[in-house]
Amino acid sequence: MTTLTVLSENTVRGAGLLGEHGLAYWLDTGTHRVLFDTGQGMALLPNAARLGIDLGRADAIVLSHGHYDHVSGLPDALRAAPAASLWFHPAATQRKFIRGADGRARRISTDFMERADFGSNRVVRHVTRPEEIVPGIWATGEVPRINGFEDTGGPFFLDEALEKPDPIADDMALYLPDPGGLSVIFGCAHSGAVNTLDHIIGQTGKMPCDTLVGGLHLAAAGPERMDRTIAALGALAPRRMGFCHCTGVRAVHRMWREFPKACEDVHAGISLVLEGAAGTES
Ligand SMILES: [Zn+2]
Ligand SMILES: [Zn+2]
Repeated sequence: MTTLTVLSENTVRGAGLLGEHGLAYWLDTGTHRVLFDTGQGMALLPNAARLGIDLGRADAIVLSHGHYDHVSGLPDALRAAPAASLWFHPAATQRKFIRGADGRARRISTDFMERADFGSNRVVRHVTRPEEIVPGIWATGEVPRINGFEDTGGPFFLDEALEKPDPIADDMALYLPDPGGLSVIFGCAHSGAVNTLDHIIGQTGKMPCDTLVGGLHLAAAGPERMDRTIAALGALAPRRMGFCHCTGVRAVHRMWREFPKACEDVHAGISLVLEGAAGTES
């Protein structure tokens, strides 16, 4: 049985917890613990303390990609968990930009990630292929971009002149191929939700689907992408889906309409039991 607790998310419910535009999850398999992403850096430590989670017990810290809303809490996380190994795709340390609504470049990487100095004692692992981080928890590594209807979800670039598009090769998800049901935890799904799910199922083979959570970056998705994403989710028929963070209100609304029994509200502070057991929310 693995418990997933949301430490950072855009929304929050519960006394004394903080919300922020970001994501961070704590996974506890009973024998191992993984911190997946670190949020924007304001919520991680206070929410972990409030929820009674000792980040110092982390065996591994995994980063979904190098954007500030996922890695800004990393310095705090590394200080809190000096023995944890650190896993990310090498492109997560690139300088990264987005074109803002005013047409100007805005940097969305962090100094700390770009420096890539994580201390001489830290075990740092670059993940480009599917890898088992701790027993039962896998990272996808780089996700092949197969489906023509999916893109990175926004005007992302590698240069301040906004000339070199960023494929966000660093984007990856975690997955738990439990025999009781597959669970997938997305960061922002810049690779595309369907590309990511296809890649995972290519590794695990077809199996029942338990839980899908995280950001799908569908705010700018056109009708074809929305329809095909919904069709792919419908075909997987997960027991539970909790799309949040960057998914976009329009996409979340559509999912709740299409899958009213499976959809759950995901906030900072909730805990979900993965692997086909009855989920709990606190
Ligand atoms: Zn992102
Ligand atoms: Zn994000």
